[in-house]
Amino acid sequence: MYPFCNCLWIEDEFNCLVDSSPTDNELAKIAGKPVHLIVNSHGHIDHNRANYRFPKARVLLHKTNHSLVESAEGYLHEFGFDRYLDEAGRTMYLRKPGYRPRPADGTLEDGQVISVGRTRFQVIHLPGHIYGHCGFFFPDEGIVYTGDIDLNKFGPWYGNISSSVDDFINSINKLIAMQPEMMITSHGTRVITAGVKAGLSRYRDIIYQREEEIIKLLYRGKHTVWEIGAELPIYKRMLEPREIFYLYECAMDWKHLERLERLGRVERKGDKYFLNHGIRPFNLSLG
Ligand SMILES: [Zn+2]
Repeated sequence: MYPFCNCLWIEDEFNCLVDSSPTDNELAKIAGKPVHLIVNSHGHIDHNRANYRFPKARVLLHKTNHSLVESAEGYLHEFGFDRYLDEAGRTMYLRKPGYRPRPADGTLEDGQVISVGRTRFQVIHLPGHIYGHCGFFFPDEGIVYTGDIDLNKFGPWYGNISSSVDDFINSINKLIAMQPEMMITSHGTRVITAGVKAGLSRYRDIIYQREEEIIKLLYRGKHTVWEIGAELPIYKRMLEPREIFYLYECAMDWKHLERLERLGRVERKGDKYFLNHGIRPFNLSLG
């Protein structure tokens, strides 16, 4: 659970930590062992909060996520919080999970192969959650570490400036096509060996269900991102802290509206969105 995540520890010629936000109890298990390399699936704090504890390790993450780990300003900007959240909210957002800047030492790119001795793995770029989101494929073990494509019941999260609904769908489809024997996710059920394809498909379809909800709201006369967000088509119920979750909700609604506009289903006039001629909620068009 946030601000922690399921991490992998590889003990080999070079010791490597895949994501670095274990609980303190978990982290204690590697106390005294050198950490040579840290790879972060992406720049969210719940995937790299212990990076600063290993000043000698080489930290790698996707180039576009360096700004998130390098400064609080860069981190807040990616959430739109430099613009839409007040000073008290920003301070709380950084302090609560324990944000500490720690510069990255290098980048991760799609297809890159990392060898730490006998163990090798390949970087798979899986954008959507945030543009720089990456998974890691271990061909010899048949394992794929999928980061925040985590099959949680709530569904995919895409509330950052560089998030994209289309990218998220494509990334899930990319994993389905890989047919991994074993998936390890950053949150929730750590190791998934059964029903991987069905689980991924179900998780992806939550995106389409949300989109249908947004179309319904447009049909019922909600036209701005803020009006749609207030109806919580993504979260369904308001979570605490409200100011944060309302902004997450609106950001994700906005990502859907962008996609609907691109698909020609919605037209934008100023800050208002309207359904194009002939576009109706699915259950209404059936009638
Ligand atoms: Zn994340």
